Amino acid sequence: MKSRNLESVRLYCVLIALVGAGLLVPIFLGSSLDLDRPSKFVEFGALAVSVLVGELFPIEAPRRSGDGEITVSVMFSFALLLGLGLVPALIAQLTASIVQDRFARKPWWQVGFNVGQYTLSLAAASAVLSWLGAYGALRGTGFGAIDLFAVVGSAAAYFVVNLLLVTRATTLYMGIRFSEALRSDLIFGLSVSAVLLCLAPVVDTVFQSSPILYPLLLVPLVGVYVSGRQTVRTVTAEHLARHDHLTELPNRRWFMEAVGGALQNAALAAGGLLLVDLNGFKDVNDTLGHHHGDLVLQELGPRLRAAFRSEDLVARLGGDEFAVFMPGADFSAAQAAVQRLEDALHKPVDVDGISIALDASVGLAWYPEHGTDVDTLLQRADVAMYRAKAGHHPLVVYRSEDDYHSPERLGLAADLRQALAVDQLVLHYQPQVELGHGKPVAAEGLLRWQHPQRGLLAPLEFIEVAERTGVIKDLTYRVLDLGLRDLRAWTDAGRQLSLSLNVSVRSLLDRRFPDEVEKLLVEHGVDGHSLTLELTESSLMVDPELAKRTMRHLAELGVSVAIDDFGTGYSSLAYLTDLPIGELKIDKSFVRAMSSDSRNAIVVRSTIELAHNLGLRTVAEGIEDAYTFERLRALGCELAQGFHMSRPLPASGLVRWWDVHVGQQPVANIGQQPGARPAGVPASPIVVPQLSVA
Ligand code: C2E
Ligand code: MG
Ligand code: MG
Repeated sequence: MKSRNLESVRLYCVLIALVGAGLLVPIFLGSSLDLDRPSKFVEFGALAVSVLVGELFPIEAPRRSGDGEITVSVMFSFALLLGLGLVPALIAQLTASIVQDRFARKPWWQVGFNVGQYTLSLAAASAVLSWLGAYGALRGTGFGAIDLFAVVGSAAAYFVVNLLLVTRATTLYMGIRFSEALRSDLIFGLSVSAVLLCLAPVVDTVFQSSPILYPLLLVPLVGVYVSGRQTVRTVTAEHLARHDHLTELPNRRWFMEAVGGALQNAALAAGGLLLVDLNGFKDVNDTLGHHHGDLVLQELGPRLRAAFRSEDLVARLGGDEFAVFMPGADFSAAQAAVQRLEDALHKPVDVDGISIALDASVGLAWYPEHGTDVDTLLQRADVAMYRAKAGHHPLVVYRSEDDYHSPERLGLAADLRQALAVDQLVLHYQPQVELGHGKPVAAEGLLRWQHPQRGLLAPLEFIEVAERTGVIKDLTYRVLDLGLRDLRAWTDAGRQLSLSLNVSVRSLLDRRFPDEVEKLLVEHGVDGHSLTLELTESSLMVDPELAKRTMRHLAELGVSVAIDDFGTGYSSLAYLTDLPIGELKIDKSFVRAMSSDSRNAIVVRSTIELAHNLGLRTVAEGIEDAYTFERLRALGCELAQGFHMSRPLPASGLVRWWDVHVGQQPVANIGQQPGARPAGVPASPIVVPQLSVA
């Protein structure tokens, strides 16, 4: 990440060094040291030593544009400029700067830059003094009002040139916006420089009246130094307490305080609280180590800040989680910001030559609809964020029915227990067609809940509640019971097909599970070879040893295991060689996009190759058109499932569909439109959940 930045900052430093060096030539040719009187010699010696000591003992000070230092040497070199002229000031300041930089083992280009920036800053200050004709007066009888004006102007010139040159160098290195860094460095720099530069004429006056007083003046100057150091420490401690050290963004504490305060403000009519969670960041940490993870966050912090409006508060809550409060924002403003954020994250971060591009899942809760205090809003944005992650959506708005803690959700959990007791759960079936000959050979059972008030609910609406409340185990047994009962009825009627059913991770980790499957197979008189159980990649990773034992036990029953939604998990592929798996189901997100995006087509082709090389069967789900169907056939994929052939159908509908398509023309030639129902098949009025997706 920094190597490119380092290149440009080095170039910039060399440029400033050259300009400074170029300027030194006419300055030294045009004037001399001019220490004709012993008093001047004493003044020069005392102040030059003071400059050197000031350089050697800087005050460390964190700034927006990176860690900085305050050197009190500027007070003495500015005093030299006012009292003795530019050449003595330059000699003292440049010598001290070179000694300190070499002492600190800074590279030559940094040494050169400091020489350049001090030369330019002091030359600018000197030019203002000459322009206002103040030099003579300063070395004469003392200060008048006009001299004071000249000194302030000269100090301002020094300050501005120095600030611009140094901030540019540090922002080039940090890769942050110049204007932004300048704004925050300005306040800090001004407060410190004002104190130091204003003391310079006092130092001068002491030398003009009686140099012997200088040691006495040093006592309060040391006091200024010590209290300056203390102030910086206090400011730093406060800064650290309210900022995240990696990204320099406000931290959780500040965010909670600031948003809490904003919500108390009667003038605030509306606002959005966004919770941003980086996807795949854990992989960066696990693969490249925490140091590299930190570098990525360091780079992403400013990008995140820049994606939002200036009035928005962007904070890092911890890890890869960020929160944003957008006062007065509406959905389109939030959506536009999230789009900018996604664009910024997609731009790869270069860490030690490795390019890393990320994306994020964002949950959004509205003030005041979803909550009137910051804790509630955060909790609700968190619920929405998890939904965004689960559904691979960039932005999801909070809905009470997704909230495990919401009354609706708790009600749903209670209803679900009731549903199991009164047979409201039904299975719909989606046929699977063998691509080779185009005939149906299997079906996947997909659960539906016939809710008395809410109509037919899709699994997305209730599976998660079932998982969280533990109802899922009974629910899986019910699915197996229903599926095997229907399968037995179909085979008894002479229809030859096998059945796939979905199993959640909780069931897989239930030690009784294989025995229960065996019991149900026996009960329904179904051969285990006609049953496939679909598991997701992530479920295998929770307890791989137990998963392996369960799968071996299932394999002994003849039951095969398919990996559902293959390609969407973040797990290692090692399990493919280690576990008794029979089938990979390529996720519909890849299949659906195959025809429009060549990269998805490559993923599908490679998955089929991988599966075949490992001796596994492939099923492509989400086929919505004849073109995709044909391409998958050409790629050698075994089974096809999708709206192009049929949507999931109730058991009776599947039977009718089956009888129409078995023994007749191959399915792909039917020319069915995506989503169209074959004649005679009743519509299945599934309540499709409305996602709030950007
Ligand atoms: P899944 O197992 O990957 O099931 C495939 C999902 O894709 C089904 O959604 C199906 O309707 C949909 N689909 C099939 N073909 C197409 C297509 O061409 N285009 C599009 N856009 N979608 C297609 P459904 O029925 O809503 O199920 C969603 C998920 O719920 C399932 O994904 C599965 O993970 C879960 N699920 C379903 N039934 C059960 C069950 O009995 N137990 C458990 N634990 N999970 C279940
Ligand atoms: Mg499935
Ligand atoms: Mg799937």
